[in-house]
Amino acid sequence: MNFRPKVAIIGAGFAGMAVVRALRDTDAEITLVDRNNHHLFQPFLFQVATSILEPAEIATPIRSLVHDMANVRVEMREAKRIDAARRVVIMTEGDDLAYDILVVATGARTSYFGHESEWAQHAQGLKTLPDALAARNRLLTAFERAELETDPAKQARNMTVVVVGGGPAGVAITGTISEFVQRTLPSDFRKIDLRRARVVLVEAGPRLLSAFSEAHSTYAMQALRGAGVEVRLGVPVSNVDAEGVMIGGERIEAATVLWCAGVQGVPLARTLGAPLAPNGTVKVDKDFSIPGHQDCFVIGDAAHLIGPDGRPVPGLASIAQQQGRFVGELIAARLAGSVPPTAPEPFLPNKLATITRHEGIAEFAGRSITGFVAWLMWGLLHLRTLSDGYSKIAILGNWLRLLITYRRSARLIVEAPSETNAGESPAMKAA
Ligand SMILES: Cc1cc2nc3c(=O)[nH]c(=O)nc-3n(C[C@H](O)[C@H](O)[C@H](O)COP(=O)(O)OP(=O)(O)OC[C@H]3O[C@@H](n4cnc5c(N)ncnc54)[C@H](O)[C@@H]3O)c2cc1C
Repeated sequence: MNFRPKVAIIGAGFAGMAVVRALRDTDAEITLVDRNNHHLFQPFLFQVATSILEPAEIATPIRSLVHDMANVRVEMREAKRIDAARRVVIMTEGDDLAYDILVVATGARTSYFGHESEWAQHAQGLKTLPDALAARNRLLTAFERAELETDPAKQARNMTVVVVGGGPAGVAITGTISEFVQRTLPSDFRKIDLRRARVVLVEAGPRLLSAFSEAHSTYAMQALRGAGVEVRLGVPVSNVDAEGVMIGGERIEAATVLWCAGVQGVPLARTLGAPLAPNGTVKVDKDFSIPGHQDCFVIGDAAHLIGPDGRPVPGLASIAQQQGRFVGELIAARLAGSVPPTAPEPFLPNKLATITRHEGIAEFAGRSITGFVAWLMWGLLHLRTLSDGYSKIAILGNWLRLLITYRRSARLIVEAPSETNAGESPAMKAA
């Protein structure tokens, strides 16, 4: 009987799926493990959080993505630890998974810079679908409470949103929330004066979008201010609690605090015993293997690599896909006994950011574009990466509607009832 190498891939994100596609015609026995049953398109998470898109439009069942790949088995479970010496992955449930070749593509998670236990419960992160739905619930519930409130201070707190982190995700969600509050909600509410609502973006560094040119940082700041956002630069958050945030020496009372400030490696990657960068991502060799283990690869946001500009390669979908494709081709060449591909030079990706529904920034091949054309480029280039054709059509429809009318259909507060308060709405629980 022929030997069929066992390839285990942990994580069905951009990087993991690219490995699977590159190995589809090999003899390998592939096990694709993910703790979720869906592949998530994270770049559009902020549009779920702001009621523009529905979850199903940005997530695809993993099984449907590999249904025509006979050599791929999908397991929905969570990897807990890797024993590289024994070549097994220990799971949170079920048997250990033995492998000949392992690819760790587990992405990154939100970092609260050492304040996870105090701040995470109050400042909603934005990495997963539950995160986006929780952010949407918080935002919509706060305005529902404001409509009922008679105390002016409490009403003002319910109408204040603070976003922490002035990178692409923070800028995008802040601009979108401000438009939502100023343009969409006024026709829904009778009592509250939405011109008094505050949307505040807080960035600890000296400028927004630090990966972009200074001119574009200024452009983004002006566009946000034009959309009614208060931008605070150079002020780190020093505390977050249930009722607001402290920035510098200033207290901002806010019912909705969203955290887009940092990412860190996932705990699983630490169990490899490989050297780590300060943020917990795994330092990899040029071919993405880890020192001393040629058959164990770490790719995508979980990996730490220095780019041609001397800075760590940024966590981007296109880069995760490039790395996944390369590692898949490398494994396929090893299995076939053919010449392995040379490692790709980490490339400097196109930089795209969206600010409001008609303002964006694009930097690519030495050129720069701002305004609606850049917004369109951002939208169409990301849409091209989506794997599901029906979702593309649905998203285009939602964007068109937003562009023409400012209407957003997904303005729903949907929370899973807990056992103790099944049937209560979030507003009732808070009362
Ligand atoms: C809000 C937001 C906006 C973004 N905007 C952009 C953008 O505009 N452009 C861009 O290019 N990039 C953007 N990114 C970054 C981009 O989404 C990431 O770089 C990309 O998703 C990384 O791919 P990955 O495969 O490494 O990880 P992920 O896509 O995060 O996939 C990791 C997978 O591993 C699974 N997993 C994790 N741990 C375990 C475990 N222990 N056991 C089993 N499964 C596990 C997860 O469930 C997940 O499916 C954005 C990210 C966020 C959060």
